[in-house]
Formats: sequence, C-alpha cells, structure tokens
Amino acid sequence: MTEDKPKRRKIMATGQMKQIMADYFYDLVDAEKTGKPIAWCTSVGPAEILRSMGFRVHFPENHGAMLGATRMSTDMIPHANAVGYSPDICSYLTSDVGAYLQGVTPLSMAYEGIDHVPKPDILVYNTNQCRDVQDWFAFYAREFGVPSIGVHTHRGVGDVGDSHVRSVARQMEDLIEPLEKAADTSFDGDSLKRTVGLSRECSDLWKKVLDTASAVPSPLTFFDGTIHMGPAVVLRGTQDAVDYYTTLLAELEERVKDGVGAVEGERFRLFWEGMPIWGRLRDHSMMFSNLRTNVVASTYCNSWIFSQFDGADPFNSMARAYTELFIVRSDKAKERYIRQMMDFFKVDGVIYHDAKTCPNNSNNRYGMSERLEEETGIPSLTINGDLNDLRCLSDEQTNTNIEAFIEGLEER
Ligand code: SF4
Repeated sequence: MTEDKPKRRKIMATGQMKQIMADYFYDLVDAEKTGKPIAWCTSVGPAEILRSMGFRVHFPENHGAMLGATRMSTDMIPHANAVGYSPDICSYLTSDVGAYLQGVTPLSMAYEGIDHVPKPDILVYNTNQCRDVQDWFAFYAREFGVPSIGVHTHRGVGDVGDSHVRSVARQMEDLIEPLEKAADTSFDGDSLKRTVGLSRECSDLWKKVLDTASAVPSPLTFFDGTIHMGPAVVLRGTQDAVDYYTTLLAELEERVKDGVGAVEGERFRLFWEGMPIWGRLRDHSMMFSNLRTNVVASTYCNSWIFSQFDGADPFNSMARAYTELFIVRSDKAKERYIRQMMDFFKVDGVIYHDAKTCPNNSNNRYGMSERLEEETGIPSLTINGDLNDLRCLSDEQTNTNIEAFIEGLEER
C-alpha cells in the first residue's frame, strides 16, 4: 500500500498578489504609451530615489527570474552567448539579453496585451550584489542610447562603518542630477522621505512574514517565499506592497495560531543558502513536501529586508541598508548571520546551492559549509546547479543527493 502524499497548503493571499503584480506591469506599459519616465533598476539598487522622482521602475532581475521560472531561459542564453556574453556569466543577464535579442518576454504569457518590456529613459545599478549588473545595464545603454549610472559599493565588507555609508550615500546623492535630467523634473526631498518610509514599512512586514517560519510547524516554505517576495522587490516604496504584506502576514499568523504547517506532517526543517533554481521551484517544492521536509528559510528571501531604512535620514539610511546586505559582506559576517538563522529557524540541516553562473551568491566555495558544520554540528549538503541555466543541473543527481541527505537526518 502506498502512503498518501502530504498536502502542500496554498496561500489564500496569492490572488491579491497576482492582482498587484498585474497592475504594476500594466502601469509600466501605460507609462511607455503616455510618455511618463521609466527607469530600470537593479533588484537591490536605489529604487526609492527613482520612485520618489516619478519614475516607473522595471527590474531586469525580476524579468530574468520569470524567464527562469517559465523555463524559457535555457533557450535564450545561447543568443546572448552568440554576441559575446559568456555562458559562464550571470544567467539572468544572458537569459534577459537573449530574450531581448529574440524579441520575446514571459510577460506576454502572463499579461494579455504586453508583448515587450517597456523601454528605459535611464538605467540605474548598484554593484553591491555583483559587477554583472553594471555590464548588463551597459548592454542596454548602448541598445537604447540612454545613460547608465550607478553606485559602486565596497564588497566583502566585515562591519559596515561610517566611511562605507558616507561613500555610498554621496554616490546616491550624485545620481540626482542625471535623474532630474532624464525625468525632466526636480528632486523633492519630502517625496523621498515618504518613499523610504513606505519601503521601511514594506520591509518590516516582509521580515515578519518570513519570521513566521520560525514556528513549528512552519506556515511558510522557501518556495512560497520566492513567489511572494515579488512585491518586496518591485513595489517597495508603495502603499500597495504595504497593504499586501499586511494581508499575507495576517493569514500566516492565523496558521501559526492554529498550528497549521505549510508542509503536512513536517518532520525536518532546512535552510536554503544561495539562489533558487527557478525552473525547478515546483518540482523541488513537491519533492521536499513528499519527504515531509520543509525548507523553511533562506538568505535569498531575506535579502529584501532593509531594517536600516529611515524616512528621516533617507540617503544615509539607504546607504547603510543597501551595504549591510548579506551578499555584500565578508565570509565571517555571513557565517555569523547564517548561524543566527540556523538557530532562529530551528533547522536540522542546510542546503547550499552552488549556482554555476553566480559565484557572488554561492557561498560554499571557500569552506564555509565545512566550517559551519564543524561549529554547529548541523549537517549540510551542496547541490550543483544554476538559477536559470538548466544545462548546469542534473535532476537525477540532485534528487538522489537530497533523498540521501534526508535519510541521513532520519538516522540521526
Ligand atoms: S548576484 Fe548573481 S544572479 Fe544576481 S545579478 Fe549578480 S550574478 Fe546575476
């Protein structure tokens, strides 16, 4: 007799999220038609400045993730390779550039009437996550003949000090003049304060949403988190995002109160370190659920928590928040953070995803997993794959390794 497969519980707020994401994309398209200014921004770039100046903001990494989730990316990457972008660099970049060269977008599958990504008036990056974003935006700057400007952040930072903050804050202030030119508007300090205040509210709610996963059983999975983080990425700084996370948080708190887990019969709890594998989200979610294992938390989803934002001191607080991010930090600071997360989320094990094309967010390559395992006694597993390039992934090997890892946890 076969055992019934455990149920994965659906989040009821998903409908509201889909609606605000649709409104966001239609608003971008409308901006292009009506001549409102459009900026493209990196996912942890200074979106608040852009939004406060009236720009509609598009995030190419969000588009890259959609290309991955729809599994269009693997076919698009070779088109970017053909114009000189290596298969070894960021596969968000190569998927996105490949899709642009082919004139296709996953937006057309999701939203009727949208057949291309609205064109930018300016591109704004922050190298806090990697250098690839600068090269990515340089491609579009040449294509569209628009400026690409940005912030160059220190990398491998231990403790973030005043000198780091001063340097990044001054660079953010220097963005204002070219942005005023691109939007044909004047910077309004009060508008920025309001936008940073709203971003902080969004961030606080998103953190509370993710923190509900510390409950046993957890009401949320990492796979839910990768979907529901959409508004925190593309709509932070708006009331829509604040309203959405208020609803989502209430639903999850209700689950915690009622002792309802996202994975029925949760036996083991894992932490995911590194990028998601977008084209396998559903498969992985089902596999872990069938093993009655919940991947409860991740450094990835936590990357859109900006607790330092302060509407009263927008430039310095943005500089600090965008530099204190996990991806910017030294291994020592990262290890301290992961230890705290392991403890807070009460995990039995850690999965490190070594993403072939993203060394910036693959933290297993310099002995971190071994050091943490030795210090905490909590076992870990490294899986080799990629965020978007499914040619870098062996499903069979990944599934076998994960199943063996869970068996190991059972034996413990
Ligand atoms: S951090 Fe990684 S996935 Fe993100 S843009 Fe940079 S290389 Fe690409």
